Order: sequence, then structure tokens, then C-alpha cells
Amino acid sequence: MSDSSSDLSILRRCWPEYAEVSTTHRVAVHGVEIGGAASVVIAGPCAVESYDQTLNVARAVRAAGGQLLRGGAYKPRTSPHSFQGLGTEGLEILAEVRRLTGLGIVTEVLDPRLVERVAEQADMLQIGSRSMQNFPLLTEAGRTRKPVLLKRGWSSTLGEWLCAAEYIAKEGNRNIVMCERGVRTSCQWSYSRNIFDLNVIEPLRRATPLPIIGDPSHATGSWTLVPSVARAALAAGVHGLLIEVLEPSGDREQLKCDAEQAITPETLAEIVAFAKAMQVPGIPEPAPEPTL
Ligand code: PEP
Ligand code: MN
Repeated sequence: MSDSSSDLSILRRCWPEYAEVSTTHRVAVHGVEIGGAASVVIAGPCAVESYDQTLNVARAVRAAGGQLLRGGAYKPRTSPHSFQGLGTEGLEILAEVRRLTGLGIVTEVLDPRLVERVAEQADMLQIGSRSMQNFPLLTEAGRTRKPVLLKRGWSSTLGEWLCAAEYIAKEGNRNIVMCERGVRTSCQWSYSRNIFDLNVIEPLRRATPLPIIGDPSHATGSWTLVPSVARAALAAGVHGLLIEVLEPSGDREQLKCDAEQAITPETLAEIVAFAKAMQVPGIPEPAPEPTL
């Protein structure tokens, strides 16, 4: 273990309550517990594009058995000319859709100056892959008492990812859920957008009691691959999934963001049924400590 990641308060060895690898720090989001025996499915559009689209997707997510709604009001886009999200209007749409459907909201915050504004509407703050080492952003998210979904940077080591979580925890907020969303390899955009790192799940769970969920949408970039990668992630021990979904009879050609990876509500219902039929697997003992 490197010096920099040996003394983190989020490690089991520094968090006596969770010394046993069989234990997980459960994180409650709008009444939904992440980190228990039952896995949790968070689903919704990539971006909030309009009120109707968001409400239609949210109703479909609810009908499929999803427990929380995801959707970006602020989008991290590679090109500054691409759709950047509806911003404040998107947050208002999400708040209204929560009122109508009862689903708690998970939404990304990109800018440290906007953390307070996003936290007013969100039930969980998402820190995206591109922002995993935006330390001022992590610090601001830690200062809120909102649960945080911390995505892994696409080329980050386990140690770097845990250090990012520590920036949030250091401010007194340990309600953090880690999210594996795929790492970059030579596959890039040939047959897959990224590779879902199944191997990291067990070492992460050994190292920290923080729950981990899997995002098969950004890990694959392809709606055809999402179901199998979702099942693989569950089998490997994630506590839940984050998935992008189309409107019922939605036209993917019309989507402004991540059109190729959105699954239909019918496919979502199959994934949710699979997730509900299994228990989150335990970690085999004895537990050798992972090298961070
Ligand atoms: C997202 O979930 O909307 C997103 C932008 O994902 P990532 O940060 O993993 O690319
Ligand atoms: Mn997306």
C-alpha cells in the first residue's frame, strides 16, 4: 500500500465499526438503502432534455421496479458545442418529477460553485468520471450532508479512487457510494466504449465498507451490451446498478446525449427482476488486504 492511501478514514482498518468484511456502510437516499442485501437500481435518462421526456422515463422506471431516478441537468460533454444540459431548468424538472412519481433524484454536479444549488434539489449528488479528481468539487460535496455517488475516473487506480472518496469523507460526509463505470483500454470505441472492471469490486469491498454500484451504460456505450454487463456486475458483488433508459417507444435518434447506450423500459424491467431475485454476494474469507 502506498503511503498516500494507507491512512484513509474510509478504509475498514481505520473505521472500527466496519472491521469485518461482511459489513457495509449503508447509505440511505430518499428512503432507499444502498449497501444492504438487496441491490438497488437507479435508472433514468442520460440528460434531462425536457419535462415530458423526464416524466415519461421516470414513470417507466417506476413501473419497471427501479428505485431511484437518475438524470443530468448539467452534462460534462467532450465538445463545448454539444448540448450541455438544461441547468437550473433541468433541476426544476427533476424536482417536479420527484413530486409526481415519488422517486428520489440522483443528478450530477460539475462545478464547485453550484454544489449548494444542486444539493437543494437532489437527493444524491453525482460526481462524474471526469470530475473524480476535482478536489475543490469533492470538498464542497463533502460539506453538504447529501449522499454522494462517486464515479471512478476512467484511468484511476483503486487507491486514487479511494483518495477521492476521502476528500468527501474528510469534510464529515461518509455517505458515499462508489460507482464503477468502465475504464479505458485498447477497445475504445471499436467494440465497446470502455471495459467494465469486474475485478475491482471485490478488492474495493475488502478495502472499504462503502457500497459500490455498477454503471453498465457508460462502461459499454451500447444498449446491446448493457444487460449482460449488468448481470455480470451483480454476480461479481455490486450493491446496485446505474442505467440509462429511453422513453417508452422513444426514438433514440432524437436523444441529445448517449443515444446508443439507452435501453428500453422493457429491458430495464428484466434487469430489475434479475437484480431482485438475487442477494448481493458476500466476500470470501479470509480476506487478504488489497494493495492500494
Ligand atoms: C453520467 O452518468 O451521466 C456520466 C456523464 O457518466 P460518466 O461520468 O461515468 O461518464
Ligand atoms: Mn450518459
